[in-house]
Amino acid sequence: VMDTKGLNTAEKYVNDVYNLVVSRNPSEDEFHQAVKEIFDSLVPVLAKHPEYMEEGILERMVEPERLITFRVPWVDDNNKIQVNRGFRVQFNSALGPYKGGLRFHPSVNASIIKFLGFEQILKNALTGQPIGGGKGGSDFDPKGKSDREIMRFTQSFMTELYKYIGPDADVPAGDIGVGAREIGYMFGQYKRIRGGNEAGVLTGKGIGYGGSLARTEATGYGCVYFVDEMLKDNDLSFEGSKVVVSGSGNVSIYAMRKAKELGATVVACSDSNGYIYDEKGLDIDTVQRLKEVERKRIKDYVNEHPDAVYVEGCRDIWTVPCDIALPCATQNEIDEESAALLVKNGVKAIGEGANMPSTLQAIEIFQKNGVLFAPAKAANAGGVAVSALEMAQNSMRMSWSFEEVDAKLNDIMKNIYASCVQAADEYGYHGNLVVGANAAGFRKVADAMIAQGI
Ligand code: GLU
Repeated sequence: VMDTKGLNTAEKYVNDVYNLVVSRNPSEDEFHQAVKEIFDSLVPVLAKHPEYMEEGILERMVEPERLITFRVPWVDDNNKIQVNRGFRVQFNSALGPYKGGLRFHPSVNASIIKFLGFEQILKNALTGQPIGGGKGGSDFDPKGKSDREIMRFTQSFMTELYKYIGPDADVPAGDIGVGAREIGYMFGQYKRIRGGNEAGVLTGKGIGYGGSLARTEATGYGCVYFVDEMLKDNDLSFEGSKVVVSGSGNVSIYAMRKAKELGATVVACSDSNGYIYDEKGLDIDTVQRLKEVERKRIKDYVNEHPDAVYVEGCRDIWTVPCDIALPCATQNEIDEESAALLVKNGVKAIGEGANMPSTLQAIEIFQKNGVLFAPAKAANAGGVAVSALEMAQNSMRMSWSFEEVDAKLNDIMKNIYASCVQAADEYGYHGNLVVGANAAGFRKVADAMIAQGI
């Protein structure tokens, strides 16, 4: 039983540091949001372990160890000079080398990179692997760019980034807009500049040159493995359920595949323009070919499958009734209104495949209405977990089979689920996986920071 005095002290500390974050990082809404979600969960943790307050852990944790911003000049196909902005946040190295993806999307700015980097610290801690938290990217828009333009841009990006990364220092990977093709071009450029072959400097590489089997599938599969644990724990299952998965990128596609494999019917998915719906279930092969091979839009699906319907407007995907919703597109894609609609239509579980896809208000609505909620930093940790396995394989100069990596991934997701449940119980929030994930991840990082001194 927690005494009220301890809780009040912790709450005041958390509010003070939160206000500091807001005043030091003005108008960085996404970063504030990620900090707020985590901090609210930490009140009972700090009340129980006041040493974290005495050691100033929160003040130290919210300030990135390093934030690098750089110019990325490149020449487009019309011989015009373009300039984009590059970022890398090296947020926290208490547990190991900085680790986290690169996002290429026009919305990228310091706030987005910092929210992602901050989330990544605790996510990486939850995997149980020795990796710190980092993130990076650029406001470059890959949409509509030719393959040569992508190559020139990524080479220019790496020409600056290479100075700050390395297999034991900072290991980037993919995120939105960065897949195997971009990682390949960046790896090539890193080698050209550095000489030698440091395979472990990037993860998500092609299988022929140091990539790990099952890395491509890992985030989507891992999300479904995590949700499956949560469902089983509550006498529910994917079998026979109706599932809506937003997005149609790498995370979404493999979440759909695994959900289907476990007996679910995936009735809808989306891209940034709109969504497709088929009550009999979507053909995921078609979705994958359209998006990854032909690089077309999701609306083209209905040309091949006239039974399906296409609806303009990606947010409207949450009007589709379902048992399980897996938001796998981007941050804040489920707002208050969408959450209320999902609840009204009888949703039983949410599994976050994207990073921070639900707003704070949306999470509150799910929790108040007894909807099972698997938060991103736990549910989507499978991607970075297999990235850490890729680093391990690179260090050993060997590679595991698909089955071996997949089995390790499954194990890791089960362990993350168990530690979230356990931590939630420990702080008196039975079944609240938001508190569980934040508390469990935080404690690992905070203990390491204390051990390593100020
Ligand atoms: N971008 C992914 C994430 O959000 C993966 C990062 C990685 O593999 O390093 O966790």
